[in-house]
Order: sequence, then structure tokens, then C-alpha cells
Amino acid sequence: MRLTHPPAVAIAPLLLALCLTAGCRRAAPDGVALVGATLIDGSGGPALPDAAIVVRRGHVESVGTHAGFQLPERTVEVDVGGRWIIPGLIDVHAHVEPWALPRYLAWGVTTVRDLHGDLDSILRLRGDVNGGAVPGPRIYSAGAMIDGLPTTYPDAIGANSPRDARRAVDRLVNAGVDLVKVYTRVDPTLLKAVIDEAGTFNLRVTGHLGLTDALTAAREGIASIEHLSGVPEACMADASSLYAAHYRGFFPGWTAFERSWAGLDSAALARVAEELAQRRTLLVPTLVLHETFSRLDDPAVLRDTMLRAVPELQQQRWNVPDMVRRAGWTDQDYPAFRAARPQQDRFLRQFAAAGGRIATGTDASNQLLIPGYSEHRELQLLVGAGFSPRDALLAATRNGALILGVDSLGLIAPGKAADLVVLTRDPLADIHNTLAIDRVMSRGTLLSADSIRKAW
Ligand SMILES: [Zn+2]
Repeated sequence: MRLTHPPAVAIAPLLLALCLTAGCRRAAPDGVALVGATLIDGSGGPALPDAAIVVRRGHVESVGTHAGFQLPERTVEVDVGGRWIIPGLIDVHAHVEPWALPRYLAWGVTTVRDLHGDLDSILRLRGDVNGGAVPGPRIYSAGAMIDGLPTTYPDAIGANSPRDARRAVDRLVNAGVDLVKVYTRVDPTLLKAVIDEAGTFNLRVTGHLGLTDALTAAREGIASIEHLSGVPEACMADASSLYAAHYRGFFPGWTAFERSWAGLDSAALARVAEELAQRRTLLVPTLVLHETFSRLDDPAVLRDTMLRAVPELQQQRWNVPDMVRRAGWTDQDYPAFRAARPQQDRFLRQFAAAGGRIATGTDASNQLLIPGYSEHRELQLLVGAGFSPRDALLAATRNGALILGVDSLGLIAPGKAADLVVLTRDPLADIHNTLAIDRVMSRGTLLSADSIRKAW
């Protein structure tokens, strides 16, 4: 709402009151016009050169071209000529910790979907950030994940029967989660109960599957699947060895799952890709996780200079050698993990060709996955898998919003949330250019990426 030429009589007492209390200053600007950049708006349509985007009070007010643009009142013009603007990036597979927040913003990730943490701490952090007390990306959270018994991680909510599973969902609903995540020891019977109960509260369910294959989960109505989990199991005539490995724990399950890809039948992969696409199950492949774990025998991975962005204490907590020891990974495992990658890429191409939609997720802040930066690695890996830069960007913007079920994100258009990234180079020409970040707008506030960064 703006006060333009109000009736003088009615406004006079108000002005007098304002002059007495505020010293009769002119009203401060509350809008920003970004003028001159090429806009890639997240719709997948053609880019708009020489655009003028007006943002006010956290929302996009108007989008047009520079030609004929008139600066509205109370609006500051910012020249972004020769630059590119994309919607703020969305990481839909995160485990958010306080140290990660400025990294997300500095790397243009303005929304994250948190998929498990200590229930109370993550919901408190979500409240602090979304309420504006602490700067950071918008946080949507599953709270604590639901797992079969015994739970793989101590802070998951365990369920041993459909009744337990419904109770677990109710507890999460009462705590105020945005979605529900199930973990590897959830079998089809438990999953069915979780999806049904969550559905009565209009909450979506996503899964890192183990004891349930991807097609069974899709047929039960799971909204999305993390890490391409359950896909090999759906392709195999007998997946009992994989189920046994998932039941033993996360690392045995991951190792057997990753090793299985290279031997999968290509016709079976195509069949699974097609049915998942047909059922509109969204996939969050987290290629950066597969890729990182497949290269742990390369000393360069542990010496990556980008790790300077991770606090020393956090790197100690990560303790990668200890993780490798706990996983029991040897020099024979890594080549097998790497052999999975072309198969995963091919599966994603088949899924997309059948009309399936994928969204970018990273699994940061798990070991070696740098919050914010990993999102750009995921984009690069999607392009490496055969996606165009435009489609990779859609996975990181519009499809992220789709997975969240939040219509106001992932698109730069009037009425949408004012989250965007200003780049100095064209991301459609080379996806690496998403790292050429000049400024980031989060909730309508324009930040210079360098001002958020400290030593990193
Ligand atoms: Zn995760």
C-alpha cells in the first residue's frame, strides 16, 4: 500500500502527528529496482535481456524491460547492467547446522529443506531463522526422521508397527514439521501407514529407502525419493541381499546399494525410470554425495581448497578417516562406487525423458559436503549427466519449490518471494558460472556475497 496524493484534509492531522513524533522526515525507500540484467526467471522460458525488477517488502512487485521503465516512488535503483539474475537456489536435501547458515546465503542458496536433525534443535533453529532473528536461508524441516526399529541413528523416531508409525507422524505434526522423512529400516507396511497418516495432515513424505524398493514406495504414494534409493532394489528380481545389508545399518546398506548399480539390467532401469516418472514421484539424486563418496581414495578430495569454508572444529567432527573406518570401505569399493555413476546418470536421463522431475539436494552438512557450495557441484554434476544448464537450473529453483509445495519460491515473477542471485557471467553458457556470484537477495534484502564471507 502506498499513500499517493491522499485527500489533503484527511491527511493533515496525520502529518502533524508524524512531524511531532518523527521529525517530519521524508518516507524512507522501501523498494529496490534491479535494472539492466538478463533475467532467467525460473520458468524455463527464454531469458529476458535488459530487465527491470522491482522488489518491495520481501516480494517481487513487477518484472519488465528497462525500455520505458519508470522508477516507482520510494524505490532505490541498482544498476546490474551486464549481469544475470536467477531465482535463489533451493537445496532440498540438507541437514542444517548454525555454522552453515551464512555459507548457504553467500553461495546463493536462499531456501533449504532440512531432512533430519535433533527434533527440538532444528525446529528452534527454523523458528529463529524464519522469524528473522538469525540471518539464513528459509528453512523447511522434516524434524527427526522416522525409522524402523532399532533406529539406525539414535535421534530418529522409531516405529515397529503401523500403529507406532501413525503415532510417530502425529508427534511430528504436533511439533510442527513441514514434511515427513522415512529412513532405511522402514518397510512397506510401515511406509503405507506413515504416508496415510501424513496425508490426513496434508504433509508429504520423502524417503531414503532401504527395506522398501522405489516402485513400491511410489505406488504407496511417496512424494519424493532421496539419493535414488530403492531404484536398484526395484530393478532386481531378487533384492534380498540388499535388504539384508540395509537392515544391518547405513554403511553396509549404502555400500551394497552403490555396488549394485553397475550390474543392473538396462531394460529394468528404463522400466523403473518410466513408472516413477508416470507416477510423478520426484527424485532428489544427490549426485554430489555419490560422487564424493566414490572418490575418497583420491587425496585431492580431502585437500580440496574449498574446505577452507568449513570451520576447523567441524572438520574435526567430520573425521573422514574415522568415517571410512566405520564404513569398512577399502580400495576395492571406490572403483565399484565410481562404476555406479554412469548408470545413475543414464537412469536420470531416462527418468527426465519420460517426463520425470528432479530437484537438487546435497546432503550437506555431512562429511565433505560444503553447505551452499555443494549445490553448485550438484548443478555441475547434473550437466555432466546430460542435462542442459537450463534444466539443471530448473532442478535447483522451480522443481525445488515444487517438491516443497511452495508456490511463491523458485520463480521471479510479480507476487513471488524476493529471493534471487545476481551473477557476473551467464549460467546458461556454462553452468560453472553459477559460482560467479555478485550479490544475493534473500527475503528482499540485497547482500553482497563478499560481505557475508569471512575468512573463506
Ligand atoms: Zn541426508
